[in-house]
Amino acid sequence: MSDRVWNFSAGPATLPERVLAEAREGIHELSGSGMSILEISHRSPAFQDVIAEAEAELRALLGIPDSYAVLFLQGGASLQFSMVAMNLLRGRTPGADYVVTGSWGAKAVSEARHEGSLRIVWSGEDEGFTRVPRPNELRITDDAAYVHFTSNETIQGVQWQSEPDTPDGVPLVCDMSSDFLSRPIEIDRYGVLFAGAQKNAGPAGVTVVALRRELLDRVPDGLPSMLDYRTQEKSKSLYNTPPTFAIYVVMLVARWLRDEIGGLGEMASRNAEKAGLLYDAIDGSGGFYRGHADPSSRSRMNVTFRLPSEDLERRFLDIAAERGLLELKGHRSVGGLRASIYNAMPLEGVRTLTELLETFRAEHT
Ligand code: PMP
Repeated sequence: MSDRVWNFSAGPATLPERVLAEAREGIHELSGSGMSILEISHRSPAFQDVIAEAEAELRALLGIPDSYAVLFLQGGASLQFSMVAMNLLRGRTPGADYVVTGSWGAKAVSEARHEGSLRIVWSGEDEGFTRVPRPNELRITDDAAYVHFTSNETIQGVQWQSEPDTPDGVPLVCDMSSDFLSRPIEIDRYGVLFAGAQKNAGPAGVTVVALRRELLDRVPDGLPSMLDYRTQEKSKSLYNTPPTFAIYVVMLVARWLRDEIGGLGEMASRNAEKAGLLYDAIDGSGGFYRGHADPSSRSRMNVTFRLPSEDLERRFLDIAAERGLLELKGHRSVGGLRASIYNAMPLEGVRTLTELLETFRAEHT
């Protein structure tokens, strides 16, 4: 595709070119239906096939059994902060445990507080959100309603390398927005996981939720229908008009992961290779570049780092933009730079950035 830049945005983020080409076709006409995906009824057989395939592909990629529901919801991951708490915390004692490893975990806490009592079992705030807790620092309440964690903190670039251990019977709830589909997971360790699609799974507008069905028994009555997981599960995400186009693109992305990449194991090793190139450039820079995250908790999705001064950071961003490397500015709350290198960022884009890191350092030391 001509005129494409290397887009390091944290989300909405770069998508595979094959998916963009297929989506263009679908916008023209959805497989023999004579209608665009944008025009088609969500109750039509053609769209039923789309949503069923999107679900089946996600189940196959992540190994999600039928004992879990897979839902396609709206309102972003941000609404899940409330919805999880409305469905699984409201009216329960003791409350829920939260592990806070960055800005998104903190947001999840402030929303859930409206619904019940919480315990922050660990927070990295005092250390500037540079790492996840070590196993011996985590004390989960034995009968907590659930324990919530953020598998990858998009702003700080802090990622769990594996799921936290939880006591038997305490459901693990995960905000997986920014590393969903980036690596295999052990699904049976999760009670609920949710992810806004706009990083690894598709465009903005749909949020994927996987939820162990037995947890539906805990949902209190009286919730608004749209915010009650039972409604969404019963109607297979078609209680109201779902974000049809976004679900279609999630289906295309999942197909791409299966056919072109070969699944999440292969995706994980490509992601490790890409992240490794950038962290090697940071670590080998003699202190010119300084990573934000502790090496034990470094994200393979969002690589956050600083230069020796804000002036040099601005100059770097200008030169990068001239070379077609965009959206590298860090989030305002952390500063510095952030390279988001989700699944669809090719190795070549990361190599181009690594080369610039090296030449820029050589010219400024
Ligand atoms: N959680 C994480 C980890 C995120 O990165 C984001 C979005 N950047 C959100 C939650 C919020 O997602 P949304 O904008 O879809 O509500």
